[in-house]
Amino acid sequence: MRIVLLGPPGAGKGTLATAIKDNLGLLHISTGDILREEMKNNTPLGQEAKRYVESGGLVPDELVTRLIKNKLENDPKAKKGFLMDGFPRTLKQAQDLDKILVDLKMPVEWTLCLEASLDVILQRLTGRRVCKSCGAVYHVKNMPSKKEGICDKCGGVLYQRTDDNEATITNRMKVYTESTKPIIEYYKTQGKLKVLNADKEAQEVKELALKNLNG
Ligand code: ADP
Ligand code: ZN
Repeated sequence: MRIVLLGPPGAGKGTLATAIKDNLGLLHISTGDILREEMKNNTPLGQEAKRYVESGGLVPDELVTRLIKNKLENDPKAKKGFLMDGFPRTLKQAQDLDKILVDLKMPVEWTLCLEASLDVILQRLTGRRVCKSCGAVYHVKNMPSKKEGICDKCGGVLYQRTDDNEATITNRMKVYTESTKPIIEYYKTQGKLKVLNADKEAQEVKELALKNLNG
């Protein structure tokens, strides 16, 4: 299956992808995770991306699209199917993705759009914690680690993303409304859109998503 996850920051795209990728045998491709890894390793690409990510703006289309093209062409796991999380984020990215996937003969089958209300989004983003070593995601209230500040999976240190502060979140929401929301219509026109209520708990959203994809 080839799936694109849509929805505002904090809707739970990454959490859902992590929860269903093994059930469905899909490769999870997150541009946010790829960019954070590049920034952590201080690569030229990471250095270029940093100022955009930290202000809550978008990294240039050309740069992220190149990353995705490389991944899709060179990761053999992508052939079995993927869950795209955080890409596309602009109409241009969506159109370029379609071109890349037509060339590879593996077009997008479904887009799952996660809808969440603003108060839920803010609560999720401000309480989010991420493992420095493995990238696992926690929440201080909704999904706390067993030992405070320590990752259950690998023992790594948990930190708060620098873009999970109120000023940057406000900007990310604005960018979402202006640049990313139009993509929903794009996929709707293609007959590929499924909408989910993502205000619910992670487990319920997971079940809802699987039911939508299997039914
Ligand atoms: P969230 O979904 O919580 O906003 P992500 O981890 O998906 O977070 O993205 C974090 C940041 O990385 C974005 O605010 C943006 O700066 C950058 N980014 C991620 N994906 C893209 C993309 N497809 N196009 C442009 N910028 C991106
Ligand atoms: Zn970890």
